[in-house]
Amino acid sequence: MGKSSAAGVDNTARRVWDKEEYAEKADKREKEAQEAEETALDIKKRKRLERDPLHQGLIVERSTLKMREYQLDLTSRIGKAQVIGLNTPLSQQAGYYCSVCDCVLRDSQSYLDHINGKYHNRALGMSMTVEKSTVEQVKNRLKMHKETASASNPEDYLPDGIDRRLAEAEAAAERERQERKRAKKEAKRGAEGEGEEGGGMDPDMMAMMGFGGFGSSKK
Ligand SMILES: [Zn+2]
Repeated sequence: MGKSSAAGVDNTARRVWDKEEYAEKADKREKEAQEAEETALDIKKRKRLERDPLHQGLIVERSTLKMREYQLDLTSRIGKAQVIGLNTPLSQQAGYYCSVCDCVLRDSQSYLDHINGKYHNRALGMSMTVEKSTVEQVKNRLKMHKETASASNPEDYLPDGIDRRLAEAEAAAERERQERKRAKKEAKRGAEGEGEEGGGMDPDMMAMMGFGGFGSSKK
């Protein structure tokens, strides 16, 4: 307004925006972005179906959720160093690798969440429904636990309810502590003894020369 810096040149006449054309372009760009997003989702969906035995026709019905029959090993790689490059296969990257779903989880918590989750268990041909237990099954289970409890060595328990192994471990720790104390004392005494000797000189000779041992002078 008023006097602009572009004095003398009036180019407003040439500035005609083709609104329709740009609206079209914007629409097109938006659509493309949406399509790209959909394909990423589609890929995920496709992979999910590829890993699902039900969708591959390998099974007719999903089984109910079953108990894990192997021991989880979450700690085997703790404290280990590993070189990871761009081309390192997924199974050797940092974290927990799931061979069923071919994915890496970054920590034990998310790994546990994954292997207990729907995606993973569906890939194993299971649904998330849990089989209803009968009274008989519960009874058998309780009986089994009772038997395993009574099978543990009764000598491990002292009459006053203290575990013998625990008491022994405590005694061993105490012994070790005393041992260390004694070793420390001896080392100290040894160092003082060296000082007294004054580099191998005879104590009598040193006394004659007018200076007593360094160690004895302390007293
Ligand atoms: Zn998995």
